Amino acid sequence: MSSAPPLSIAIGGAGIGGLAAAILLARDGHKVTLYDRFDQPEPVGSGLMLQSTGLAVLNALGLSAQIEACSTRINRLFGRTQPSGRTVLDVRFAALKETLQARGIQRSALFNALFSLAQNEDISFEPRSEISNAAPDGGMFLFENGSNSPEFDLLIDALGARSPLSSHPTKELPFGALWATIPWPDEPGFLNDALEQRYRAARQMTGLMPSGAPDPATPPTATYFWSIEGHAYDAWKAGGLAAWQEDAIALWPETASIVERLSVDQLIFARYRHRTHAKPVTGRLFHLGDSWHATSPQLGQGANMALLDALALRNAIRVGGRDTGLTGRTYRALRVTHIRLYQAMSYLFTPVYQSHATTIPWLRDHLAAPLSRIWPAPPILAALVSGAFGSPLKKLGLTADH
Ligand SMILES: Cc1cc2nc3c(=O)[nH]c(=O)nc-3n(C[C@H](O)[C@H](O)[C@H](O)COP(=O)(O)OP(=O)(O)OC[C@H]3O[C@@H](n4cnc5c(N)ncnc54)[C@H](O)[C@@H]3O)c2cc1C
Repeated sequence: MSSAPPLSIAIGGAGIGGLAAAILLARDGHKVTLYDRFDQPEPVGSGLMLQSTGLAVLNALGLSAQIEACSTRINRLFGRTQPSGRTVLDVRFAALKETLQARGIQRSALFNALFSLAQNEDISFEPRSEISNAAPDGGMFLFENGSNSPEFDLLIDALGARSPLSSHPTKELPFGALWATIPWPDEPGFLNDALEQRYRAARQMTGLMPSGAPDPATPPTATYFWSIEGHAYDAWKAGGLAAWQEDAIALWPETASIVERLSVDQLIFARYRHRTHAKPVTGRLFHLGDSWHATSPQLGQGANMALLDALALRNAIRVGGRDTGLTGRTYRALRVTHIRLYQAMSYLFTPVYQSHATTIPWLRDHLAAPLSRIWPAPPILAALVSGAFGSPLKKLGLTADH
């Protein structure tokens, strides 16, 4: 419980960040109303990687055991470029700390864990609420149907990468990917504790990640992905599966049994965006998660950063109370360094793995890859991937050990 006076708080978006913020703020005694466009909130997408940063917030929420039960431990990121077969990525979390790990999890499992916890708290949920704007002073949401919410002390925009409240123009990245959830393959030859990738220069990437079993009674799952440019998606869909399957198997022959079983409907296309909203706070309106900072999932930080934002905002409200100016400054100070670092790195790394460049992937394969094996590169890379740069947990009073 906080010593701050209870506030009335509206949260737009019952996604990962919105749900975490709702639980944390309700537990502090605030009157929380959660709006989402869906009839019933539902997770969208495939698997994702929870890093030690996001895991620390989930631990603070009391979800550690549940998350562990429905996810898979990831110790390593491993990638080879083809046709040479050269290893160009091999990041081991243990290089930084023996106990450090990530967890591969289905988005639905993470969502269900957060949503069932939210249902145990005193949170009003308002489904079928398509938010189109906010009042200029940030006190109320305006809805697509012309109605508006009551006035609140504070509004949180957790509407994700396409938030209509985030005014900064969104940059559509040329590449996205096709994603599918599949049973973990029985065939030998896949690392069951790693996110594995194969590359053709930087113009093609495919990957496989173990992503837990959302229900302990069901077999473990994997997340398969295949990068594709946004403008090529319609042609891919129209072209039929056979040509793509041949290409996918040529790049990673061991995935033949996976690729041959996939249908067009199973492969969901996700286009990536990059955007950092200049001001996380305007008046009473606070941006959180992808509405503040969206990136390509190249570094696998987005969900983790939304969770960190949620805890930072809870802590900032404890400091600022009704003084939204002080709350805003505290919130920004708690998160801005980490966000800037990872937004910049994500922006820089994306062309290394997803672009038509030729020099950059050559340097990746022939210079960066050998250097990455020489100390102190291994622990630095492990820290980078785990989200530890900028010490985001320390600022929030959390540790990665739980
Ligand atoms: C393919 C893919 C793979 C990814 N892999 C990873 C990974 O491995 N690790 C990682 O950390 N991150 C990953 N991410 C990023 C991660 O999913 C996001 O960063 C994270 O979900 C952001 O959380 P959020 O709460 O900000 O938004 P979201 O989780 O997107 O939630 C937004 C919510 O707002 C609601 N909403 C949206 N617009 C409106 C509206 N106008 N009115 C009302 N409601 C609305 C939506 O229904 C949704 O419930 C991946 C993303 C993609 C696309």
